[in-house]
Amino acid sequence: MNLDYKCLKCGSDRYIVKTAVIPEKSPGLKIEIGTYYVKTCVECGYTEFYSAKIVDKEFAKNKKGKRYAKATP
Ligand SMILES: [Zn+2]
Repeated sequence: MNLDYKCLKCGSDRYIVKTAVIPEKSPGLKIEIGTYYVKTCVECGYTEFYSAKIVDKEFAKNKKGKRYAKATP
């Protein structure tokens, strides 16, 4: 993942990214496992969550003409 980042709280651009797997349940649907990127500012600890499904889709969109196998979480 490569996102421009400046901490909203302290303005630092230093952060760590980890991946979290979270069970999701939408009404009427079976439980799915969602993958999220967890971005934590190393200066103040402010943390953001990004949906991997969406981030990776954006990433794939930027690579014109190339198709990637869909990652199954
Ligand atoms: Zn911060």
